Amino acid sequence: MATACLIKVRGVVQGVGFRPFVYRIASELKLSGWVLNGEEGVAIHLEGEEETLHRFLVRLKTEAPPASRIVEIEVEAAAANGFEKFTIKESERRDRPTVRISPDLPVCDECLGELADPANHRYQYPYINCTNCGPRYTVILALPYDRPNTTMKDWPFDDYCDREYHDPANRRFHAQPVACPNCGPHYYLRVGEETMCGDERVIRQAVELLKIGKIVAVKGLGGYHLACDARNAEAVAAMRARKFRKEKPFAVMVASVHDAENLVELSAESAELLTSIARPIVLAPAKAKLSGVAPDNRELGVMLPYTPLQHLLFASGVPSVLVMTSANRSSEPIAYTDEDAFERLSGIADAFLVGERPIARRVDDSVARVGALGPAILRRSRGYAPGAVAGFPSLQANKPILALGADLKNTVTLVVDGQAFVSQHIGDLDHYEAFRAFEETIRDLMTMYEIRWEDVVLAHDTHPEYRSTIHALRLAPAKKIAVQHHRAHIASVLAERGAWEQKVLGMSFDGTGYGDDGSIWGGEFFVGSLLSGFERVGHLRQAALPGGDAAAQYPVQAAAGFLAQVEGLPDLSQPPFSFPSRYQTALQLVHKNVRTFSTTSIGRLFDTAAALLGFTRDITFEGQAAMWVEHTARSTAKAEPYPFPFLGGELDFRPLLQAVAADRLKGRDIAEIARSFQAGVAHGVADAVRSLTSEYRVNQIVLSGGVFQNEMLLEDLKRELHDSGVELWTNQAVPVNDGGISLGQAALAAFRGQEQR
Ligand SMILES: [Zn+2]
Ligand SMILES: [Zn+2]
Repeated sequence: MATACLIKVRGVVQGVGFRPFVYRIASELKLSGWVLNGEEGVAIHLEGEEETLHRFLVRLKTEAPPASRIVEIEVEAAAANGFEKFTIKESERRDRPTVRISPDLPVCDECLGELADPANHRYQYPYINCTNCGPRYTVILALPYDRPNTTMKDWPFDDYCDREYHDPANRRFHAQPVACPNCGPHYYLRVGEETMCGDERVIRQAVELLKIGKIVAVKGLGGYHLACDARNAEAVAAMRARKFRKEKPFAVMVASVHDAENLVELSAESAELLTSIARPIVLAPAKAKLSGVAPDNRELGVMLPYTPLQHLLFASGVPSVLVMTSANRSSEPIAYTDEDAFERLSGIADAFLVGERPIARRVDDSVARVGALGPAILRRSRGYAPGAVAGFPSLQANKPILALGADLKNTVTLVVDGQAFVSQHIGDLDHYEAFRAFEETIRDLMTMYEIRWEDVVLAHDTHPEYRSTIHALRLAPAKKIAVQHHRAHIASVLAERGAWEQKVLGMSFDGTGYGDDGSIWGGEFFVGSLLSGFERVGHLRQAALPGGDAAAQYPVQAAAGFLAQVEGLPDLSQPPFSFPSRYQTALQLVHKNVRTFSTTSIGRLFDTAAALLGFTRDITFEGQAAMWVEHTARSTAKAEPYPFPFLGGELDFRPLLQAVAADRLKGRDIAEIARSFQAGVAHGVADAVRSLTSEYRVNQIVLSGGVFQNEMLLEDLKRELHDSGVELWTNQAVPVNDGGISLGQAALAAFRGQEQR
């Protein structure tokens, strides 16, 4: 006898080939009924033998499309209607879209097979895709996710694509970006004023250019890449010179995991990350020497091809290791429109490999690594955004929360119907282009989820001079909430884990953030929970910071403030220190207390150590001096920690820096000094943890803030605290750096009633 049931599937189940998948297994099992995209996910009505219904449920869970993520399956009995077959019903029209927008997906194996098959209609077609793969977030202009609302709207289907699109049994059923060589967009090559057409021909030509050391701008999913042969030192040097990117590492792309293994030490976990559906750039210890690609860096960033075009380049014999770096100058945002690329990259790229499909929004490559505490995301963008990272409790269920993030590495978070959506990496709001992207992203999220300003709780940083804070003043939400930077870091970790009531000791270590007292914080200990708020219970000893945040550019300037408190130092303008005159100038500011602020920043403490060890030049990217210290320390075995005592709620940096300076003067190897410094920081922090956990009776530790991108610090801390009965949590879903701030702001805003500040 036939029974019937209604199944509701929630999670990432729309725009990922879920309905055709359901149709296929229902048809195979000879079940009747229907499937549709409903308000909260996918709804399925099934009729058939009870035992077959069970088999359906098992296959639903085990064979779901690769890009889908089932969060919940609800099954209830239903009345049998006597359906004769299984159908896909039209989507329900909804009031407010609560559907999750899928991140972009890498081209799937089936499409890759067709791409390489001369008999296939889409043989070598760079825009091949299906419901299991291809662009999503980077082509969506508006919701609902239908063809006219995508950047494919100007390419009407021919009969071939139309048939597939409307055939429920086809892999391209309702695949919005579907196209073929006959009806879809193409690539062309632009060299100077000349334009060359024909997908196959222009790909071959681009490969030839790359082989002879040229730089080619290649349009990808969320923006342009600049590509060159990574083994050609001259080409890499030219890329650096033209891009004004002096030292920041470039990422490389290789065809396979096997090729990646030749370049980096790839653990099983790293390989898993590398081949994961997000296809991020994975940082791993470098094995191969690629001149100029990642100078002074122990790690190399590697990624695999994820678009059909990238696969075609490799299949056409492109150099086996390609630099694939965001197409921009210095730290500007990545170029994503053709006009912008032509204009901004004309002095950099020798040629442009341009795809006709427009990019709806800028989405950089994501960056991740397998760290001492598990997989960590350093830049959350393509493949992850705009996926939900956390489910919020329904305290203020009816009020959407929009959190504007911090000014560096900005992201914004929108919480709607209890789901926290974190935007792609936007960048440093100091840049005009990045600030525009920030405004666009806010508009984008608000429009897509049909949120009205008058309903929004708006969260922003407490820094009065942040661009994001100033922007908040221009908006008119229902309510505005200022959230302290370092508390937001701790909150981001707890929000990811849904640990709303968990009492923790939180350590928030970074370069800079606006403190409660108006000084520059960055080495803070808190006790509390999201529910009760966080009380500051300890910090780095205060140092002067001449020039304020500007000192972050110049390690010796930051050093002047810290070293002003260290007794018995020799003349640092003399060897081995040889500090430039900027140091003396900064020291005078400190002594006269002119343009001098006070700071507890661990980031600046690392800068000071870097300066004492010989990094006396300006930095060319954020965090560079601290990375250099870690890199230097890596070249030696373990060394004894320098003293870094925790007394009266303060970590005292004076003995630590005194030891660094004294050993340097004695001529001790700088790698060993760097190692002792790193070990000293970890040892001192571990002491502070032991003292504070016993005083406040907590054993859950939270680590967040950019300083914890230092892997050696994490490894040392983990070892130091191994048998002290505490558990370490850090960020996993959002970056530990300021890219995670918006999520933390949103979490604290949700609990504002109870929060202390
Ligand atoms: Zn596919
Ligand atoms: Zn077609």
